[in-house]
Amino acid sequence: QRMRQGLAKTQAGLVGRIDSLLSGRARVDDDLLEELEEVLITADLGMQTTRQLVDAVEERLGRSEAADPQLVRQVLKQEMISRLAAVDSPLDLEQARPMVIMVVGVNGVGKTTTIGKLARLWTSRGKKVVLGAGDTFRAAAAEQLAIWGERAGVDVIRHAEGADPGAVAFDAARAAVARKADILLLDTAGRLHTKANLMEELKKIRRILEREIPGAPHETLLVLDATTGQNALIQARLFKEAVEVNGLVLTKLDGTARGGIIVAIANDLGLPVRFVGIGEGADDLRPFDPEMFVRALFE
Ligand code: GDP
Repeated sequence: QRMRQGLAKTQAGLVGRIDSLLSGRARVDDDLLEELEEVLITADLGMQTTRQLVDAVEERLGRSEAADPQLVRQVLKQEMISRLAAVDSPLDLEQARPMVIMVVGVNGVGKTTTIGKLARLWTSRGKKVVLGAGDTFRAAAAEQLAIWGERAGVDVIRHAEGADPGAVAFDAARAAVARKADILLLDTAGRLHTKANLMEELKKIRRILEREIPGAPHETLLVLDATTGQNALIQARLFKEAVEVNGLVLTKLDGTARGGIIVAIANDLGLPVRFVGIGEGADDLRPFDPEMFVRALFE
C-alpha cells in the first residue's frame, strides 16, 4: 500500500500516459508504436530499454493486425517484470560474518539516510549492525549517521572531519570483527567533481576492507536518486566501470514521476535493485521485488 502511494507519480507519468495513448485506438499500427516509443522515452525508460519493450510489443502483437491495443499494456507489464526479474537476486546477508557492505554514490542521493534505514531494518530482525562513517568530507554526514545509529541502537565508528576515510574503513572493519557484528555498513564520500579521485579512493577503501576481512566488501551498493532520471543512469555507468557494484538502491521514488528509470538502469546495466526508498522516514525503505513493483505501477 505504501509502495503504491510512493509510486503514484510514476504511475501517472508512465502508466497513465500509456493508458491515454491506448484509449480509443482500434489497432496496433506504426503510429501507435511510434507514439509508445515516445511515451516510454519521456518516462525515462532510456533508449535501449524502450527499444526492447517496443520490439517485444511488435513481436508479440504484430503490426496492423486486429490486435486489441489493450494487450499492449499486458505485454509491457510482463516484459518489464521479466526484464527486472532476469537481473534480480536477493541480497544474501548470511554469506559472511561480518557481512561487509560498502555504500557508494554521489552526494545528496540518500546514502546516509539509506544506511540509517537499513541499520534499523536489520536491527529489528535481530542482526547486530555496526556503521562506519566513511564520508569524512562532510561533517554533517558523520553527524547524521550518528543520529541514525543512536536511534537504531547501533555502534557508529567515526573519525574527525577531514580524516582519512581509509582509516575509518580500517577501524570499522576491526570493530565489526571485535564486536562480532553480523553486518558492517560503511558510508563513503561522494564528491563527483573529482571523479578520478573519488574512484581511486573507493578502490583504496576496498583494498583496506579486503585486507581486514576475507572476501570483503561482500556487497557494494550503489545508491541513486530516482528524481534525477537519466543522470542516475549516467552515474550508474560511471560507478559500474570504476568499482565492482553488486546492487542498486533507488531513492526518492515518492517524489518523482521518473520511477521508470529503475527498469532502464537494471536492464541496461544488468544489476539487481536491492531496495527502493519511498520517503524520508525510518520505515520508508523497501526490499525490491520486480513483480510487486510492476504490479503496483500497472494495477
Ligand atoms: P547523501 O549525501 O547521499 O548521504 O544523502 P542523504 O542521506 O543526506 O540524503 C539527502 C536528502 O534526501 C535528505 O534530505 C534525505 O532525507 C532525502 N532522502 C533520502 N532518501 C529519500 C527517499 O527515499 N525519499 C525522499 N523523499 N527523500 C529521501
